[in-house]
Formats: sequence, structure tokens, C-alpha cells
Amino acid sequence: MKVGIMGGTFDPIHIGHLIAAQCAFEQSALDEVWFMPTNVPPHKQQAPGATPKQRWEMVCKAVEGHPYFRPIDIELQKGGVSYSIDTVKLLKQQHPGIHFSYIIGADMVQYLPKWYKFDELVQLISFIGLQRPGYELDVKQLSDQVRQAVSIVSMPLMELSSTSIRERVAEGKSIRYMVPDGVYDYIEVNGIYGS
Ligand code: ATP
Repeated sequence: MKVGIMGGTFDPIHIGHLIAAQCAFEQSALDEVWFMPTNVPPHKQQAPGATPKQRWEMVCKAVEGHPYFRPIDIELQKGGVSYSIDTVKLLKQQHPGIHFSYIIGADMVQYLPKWYKFDELVQLISFIGLQRPGYELDVKQLSDQVRQAVSIVSMPLMELSSTSIRERVAEGKSIRYMVPDGVYDYIEVNGIYGS
């Protein structure tokens, strides 16, 4: 079984994240994509931001009933700052037999060798780099090690970020269609981001 890991702050999760996951799913022939909210240490939390519990619940709402998208709370449960290498080791321990890939933006691919314990990490997982229009990854610049570990998939340009969504809510503008309906309702009911 092949599983893609989509990590993020998800403050809040939006359709850019979901479309990215869908593109990775299709083009890398994955069986599932797991959405993994990262833990944000209190001093780094955005104001006005959602609590870890709210970020988690929004991710759950976004993938509720989906046949192959799943939420996982492995890093939230652990707390603190998680290194990918530790998360991957834990995932593989809990799910032997699953082949994991990290889904990352193509702009991040060139920095992979700088990731903590990359040499060890690359033995355990592979990477899916999302190529966005307007950013051309120069594959020739990559080392053989990185090139072998990464497969590049394409996705349409979605000019959307969690930051812009938080700002729109704070300004009283609508975020309908930018987030799934369940997330839209959740933000409104719980008065998140100054709604
Ligand atoms: P923020 O604005 O708070 O920094 P964000 O929208 O970039 O948030 P994150 O939770 O930091 O969201 O992102 C998780 C992952 O999703 C990252 O790898 C990021 O590159 C990717 N991502 C976010 N928005 C988009 C988008 N519109 N299209 C493609 N990928 C995206």
C-alpha cells in the first residue's frame, strides 16, 4: 500500500491543500493520502489563529466521508516540534508494510538535502514534489540522491493560502468555496479568526 503524507499547519485547511493531495494521489498512484497537522509551539502560534484542537477538527471535517483521504494526529499527539525523521520512524513502526511518501511543494525540493538527517530519511520514504505553474524546478541542479527520491507531479495554480483566508475572515469577507462547507460552518460557529 502507498500512502502520501500531506503535512501542514492547516490554520485552516483549504481547497488548495485538497487539490494538491488529489493531484499527488492521481499522478503518483497512491492508495491513500493522510493529512497530518503539525504541532505549532505556543510562541509561534498565529494571532488570531485556531487552537491545535480546532485545526485538527477542521482537517477531520474536510476529509469526512472521503474514500481515501484520512486525518492523522501523530504530530499533534506527540507535541513539541517534530522532525520528519522521527515522525516517519513512528509511522513505519505503527504501519509496517506501508510505503510512505511526503508530499511537498516543488520549491522545497532543492532544500531537501538540508532536512535533518536527510541521508537516513531518504532510506525510509520517498517524496512527491508538487510543481506549480510559475515555478520551474531545475531538475539538472539536483543531486542524484534527491532526483532518485523525488517524483514530480503537476497541479493547477491556486492563489490561496491559509494566511489569506484568516485575513478575509478578519475583514468580514466571505471564504465560502475556498474551504470545504464543513470547515466554513465550523469557523463561523466557533468564531475563529475573528469571525
Ligand atoms: P500559511 O498561509 O498559514 O503559511 P498555507 O496555506 O501555506 O499556510 P500550510 O498549512 O502551511 O498552508 O501548507 C501545507 C502544505 O500545503 C505546504 O506544503 C504548502 O506548500 C501546501 N500548500 C498550501 N497552499 C497551497 C496551494 N494554494 N497550492 C498548492 N499547495 C499549497
